[in-house]
Amino acid sequence: MIIVLKGTATDDELYEIVEAVKEYGYSAEVVKGESKTIIGAVGDQKEKQQHMNLIGQLPGVEAVVPILQAHKLGSREFKHDDSSFPVGNTIVGGDKLTLIAGPCSVESEEQIIEIAKTVKASGATILRGGAFKPRTSPYTFQGMGVEGLKLLRKAGDLVDLPIVTEVLDLKNLDIISEYADMIQIGARNCQNYALLKAVGKTKKPVLLKRGMSTSIYEFLLCAEYLLAEGNMSVALCERGIRTFETATRNTFDINAIPVLKERTHLPVIADPAHGTGYWQYVSPIAYAAIAAGADGLAIEVHNKPEVALSDGGQSLKPKKFQAMVGKARIIAKAIGKEL
Ligand code: PEP
Ligand code: MN
Repeated sequence: MIIVLKGTATDDELYEIVEAVKEYGYSAEVVKGESKTIIGAVGDQKEKQQHMNLIGQLPGVEAVVPILQAHKLGSREFKHDDSSFPVGNTIVGGDKLTLIAGPCSVESEEQIIEIAKTVKASGATILRGGAFKPRTSPYTFQGMGVEGLKLLRKAGDLVDLPIVTEVLDLKNLDIISEYADMIQIGARNCQNYALLKAVGKTKKPVLLKRGMSTSIYEFLLCAEYLLAEGNMSVALCERGIRTFETATRNTFDINAIPVLKERTHLPVIADPAHGTGYWQYVSPIAYAAIAAGADGLAIEVHNKPEVALSDGGQSLKPKKFQAMVGKARIIAKAIGKEL
């Protein structure tokens, strides 16, 4: 349910309402808007109607309305306006597009620093790089681990960019939360509910990637696991889904962008690198994603893609990345956004 407070409600009244909500067995998420404060109360209580009536009579309450969508806190019913949140020195969501860029994996100090410098110069707002890698084969490069994480932090600090990196399992969550500005949950862990709950508890900004066979309905409920822990700094990432098509690595689901934007207030980021699997398709799909309403892009960039330890074939060289950003900027402007 959504509890809408009167404009005149005091902090004491807000406190009492939140206490009552919790006592009835619901979680309470307070959202202070410019003109109104609302509380999202989520829980699976049988006496919900009775609780709604009781809460409706508390001082300071203007209205109590049920949330009909399954994804409660992420829904537009709960929050009509687009969400945005800080990640280090940048804001994800809103009219200024987010540009996440960097290699698939951190491979060495020289590699990550060189790439960090070039993506920063081309307008990236967040530096990416995998330290713990979810590889299809156990015999391929698994990432540099903690050492890679520290190098990513060093490179980010050097060029003044916040960093995002993937958490693979609960074991490394603490150290990743310590070093990273944003935690990526990869496609393979999109429906790892134990990990989602734990990442939600950290309250760190999250980039949640869509699972390769996760429907939009399921994807929104995965995000809900993070939100239900009180972590509202969540961006959703469309990165392609499995279809019968084999000409590309995945099928980038362009439809998902307007559908997600309609159903949720959370920012939506497009990843055309994993979405296509081939560098030559990355820029066209990046342009399409911006035109479709994405709040940002996540692009794999590598200084030497031919020798990259992972995803070289879908990585843009720095010059190509720069050219892509130039055109993407024009498209962003055409639809009233800034890149
Ligand atoms: C990645 O971002 O490098 C990655 C492994 O992505 P995904 O989880 O979307 O496959
Ligand atoms: Mn990758």
